[in-house]
Amino acid sequence: MNAAMNAMLLDNLKLLSLSTMIQNLSAKLRQAKEGKIAYEEFLLNLTEIEVQVRRENGRKRRIKEAGFPLLKPLETFDFEAATDLDVRYIQELTTGEYIEEKRNVIFLGKSGTGKTHLATALGMEACTSGYRTRFVTGCGLANELIEARDEKILSRVIKRYAGYGLLIIDELGYVPFSKEGAELLFQVLAERHEKRPVIITTNMGFGDWTQIFGDPNLTGALLDRITHKAHIINCTWESYRLKETLKNKRRNSK
Ligand code: ADP
Ligand code: MG
Repeated sequence: MNAAMNAMLLDNLKLLSLSTMIQNLSAKLRQAKEGKIAYEEFLLNLTEIEVQVRRENGRKRRIKEAGFPLLKPLETFDFEAATDLDVRYIQELTTGEYIEEKRNVIFLGKSGTGKTHLATALGMEACTSGYRTRFVTGCGLANELIEARDEKILSRVIKRYAGYGLLIIDELGYVPFSKEGAELLFQVLAERHEKRPVIITTNMGFGDWTQIFGDPNLTGALLDRITHKAHIINCTWESYRLKETLKNKRRNSK
């Protein structure tokens, strides 16, 4: 290939925004010449790097956009500490089948049992698989919706929350909602129902949800929707945080 052709090729790759291919072009051309690689294989090698880089950039972008409070991947979750939790069940969830099937996942249990950790881990897996994901707390979401209503941008904000491939609502129930907050949250969940899943973490049993949402009718309608076909995981084991604290105390007192 002469210099003019090479320049045209680089121009074309630039126009097509194939920057990783541009970076690797001369090295791959050299390898192809030395190794007598077939045209198809050369093109495959070159496009493969571009695809990999884009996939990784997309994953990073989605993880950033998700707004996880801390990055807690599944590899850092100690299943031995979560007695009663079936590793296979969680591993099955990491395949993202529940997202395809539009089934919600609900983690119920005491504080410190790893609900947020597991919800984050599933969220990170979803980002890797290409789903736009958003992590919010119940309280944060309700406040955002109330503000959006005041600013007359509610329908736009609801549309955004309805559109995420996966929505994680953490700590539902730690603080009860105002009547307005409960109604707006209901709207978001109703919009997503059977279209896109939510992961919910809560320290309240379903029987106590009227305390969170106030109105028994609204609570009934909401529970009906979110528990429909949902994966419900009861985190009945001891608090990991408490166990760690006790371990440290014992170590320090020795
Ligand atoms: P919850 O949301 O149920 O209150 P968190 O997920 O916030 O609990 O867990 C509390 C802390 O303990 C976090 O730092 C979390 O990463 C850690 N943790 C909880 N369970 C485990 C576990 N089984 N393995 C590793 N770390 C855990
Ligand atoms: Mg939590």
